[in-house]
Amino acid sequence: MASAPRRIALITDYDWSYADQDTDRYVFEVLAPHLRSSLREGKKTTQWTDNCAEHLRRLHAEGFTQKDVEAALHTLPIHPAQRRGFRNTKERKDIQTTILCLSNSNSVYIDTIMKHQNDADLFDEVITNPASFREDGLLELRRRVDPNGPQHGCKVGCSPNMCKGAELEAWMERHGGWDSFDRVVYVGDGANDLCPILHLRKQDVALVRLYRELYRRLQDSAAAHVSDVKCETAPWGGAWEVEKWLKEEL
Ligand SMILES: [Zn+2]
Repeated sequence: MASAPRRIALITDYDWSYADQDTDRYVFEVLAPHLRSSLREGKKTTQWTDNCAEHLRRLHAEGFTQKDVEAALHTLPIHPAQRRGFRNTKERKDIQTTILCLSNSNSVYIDTIMKHQNDADLFDEVITNPASFREDGLLELRRRVDPNGPQHGCKVGCSPNMCKGAELEAWMERHGGWDSFDRVVYVGDGANDLCPILHLRKQDVALVRLYRELYRRLQDSAAAHVSDVKCETAPWGGAWEVEKWLKEEL
């Protein structure tokens, strides 16, 4: 009798991980570079999601439409090797793969890009900040964790809008718990990917993008929480290396 396929959870951050760009910054770089500069200034004093929401209001006030935002998103690069690697993994018969996108971007950006790139069927679930276009074309963006409700209380350093570690735990709970997966693979690059990686087990692996913030943190064994990482870590630079790892090591 053939043995049951191994169950895999493939979890990916979006900006600079599945996508080869940063959605929040890219829209302003394409449409209104002066707002891109202002976004960087705003980061110093305003929580990131709130900062992006404020700059989307300014973009709208300057006359940019829903179509403009969507057209910008349609040019955002997804590396073909990243898509191919994920799709081939999902289609393998010797493993059964559930794919989750866990991102600090927002639902409109990710949905728009996924539809345009024919990626929508690839992902089983997307967890991100909620957003929607108002009838007059303003893109309204909110924190996933409502600032007026109970806060997540993360001690690792997640931004107030979302604790990726808590979201991962809740997702696991909804999917039968950690024991339901033989292996969890996490693709990430940012400082906010450290928290979820701390939840991964010994048999799991974090694919960490080279020279970005998560990689820098993990290189510093004295940095807070780094000694608590239990999973294996594997560095990657280009999407072709993620594709290769998924094909050969999973
Ligand atoms: Zn956290």
